[in-house]
Amino acid sequence: MTADITAPAPPIPWPDGKRCAVSFSFDMDADALIHIARPDDANTCVSTMSGMRYGPEIGVPRICDLFESYGLKVSFFVPAWCAEEHPQVIERMVEGGHEIAHHGYMHESPSRNTRDREAYWTVRALDSLERLTGKRPVGYRAPLYDYSQHTTAILAELGFRYESSLMGDDLPYVLRSRSGDLLELPVDWACDDWNQFCHLADIDFVMPIQSPRHAFDVYRAEFEGQYEIGGFWQIVWHPFLIGRAARMRYVRSFIEELLEKGDVWLTNCIAVADHVEGLIAAGNYTPRVDTMPIKSSAHRIPELAEDVEPLRG
Ligand SMILES: [Zn+2]
Repeated sequence: MTADITAPAPPIPWPDGKRCAVSFSFDMDADALIHIARPDDANTCVSTMSGMRYGPEIGVPRICDLFESYGLKVSFFVPAWCAEEHPQVIERMVEGGHEIAHHGYMHESPSRNTRDREAYWTVRALDSLERLTGKRPVGYRAPLYDYSQHTTAILAELGFRYESSLMGDDLPYVLRSRSGDLLELPVDWACDDWNQFCHLADIDFVMPIQSPRHAFDVYRAEFEGQYEIGGFWQIVWHPFLIGRAARMRYVRSFIEELLEKGDVWLTNCIAVADHVEGLIAAGNYTPRVDTMPIKSSAHRIPELAEDVEPLRG
């Protein structure tokens, strides 16, 4: 008999006795990355820009149509600059009742900014998204998962309820800072489509493009692991990548596969946050707590230096 894999924390009671939760999230980056990576000549990268703008122009409406046909709501993480550039796509998301969450202003990297600059861009994007969506976002994902030592405190001070960039658990857990707590809805690179399909030579992301069949083998294996432990699994997809017609056929089959199981909660980030916060408040779930930042300074063991330095080449 095969032994079960032990859950790393007490399993969460999911709604309606479901065995596990699957959250669908999409990072709608449009062409922000190329403008931040190549501020002086991004305008000359016409083909790359067009491929990234496929996300808001073609991918998002296709994603909304598909998920809505199953009565499902998803979460879109949107850099505010992309929302300003593509207000029509924000309207489409709002119309479908989907969540719109914070993903930086122009996909800038929090960990390469000072605390003050990170706070400035976080507030600027928050105000812009609130103006464009009619709702103040309560969820955040760091661009490229590039979370900084200060992000938890900045978000807690601004009243965010959850964030979704870190990889420290299978189940939702708590990030604790001196400024307050945040719920973490963890991610993992294996649930992303960037490493399966992203091929952008102009900004040095050159992945060998996988077949959708291969990508969904990876996603299915990851889902099955979480299903076995009664856990939480989150998809992080990009409309300019997953929104291509060939890949959307596999998205449709995958949704049907999950629905057929009958005991999987297909949902989005804000619904998971609402549910888990309710359980914590009622004393029905005690999440693991990570104190942030994980390390406040570089952790060097001096006597190891002579062993480690040669390995760095
Ligand atoms: Zn992104």
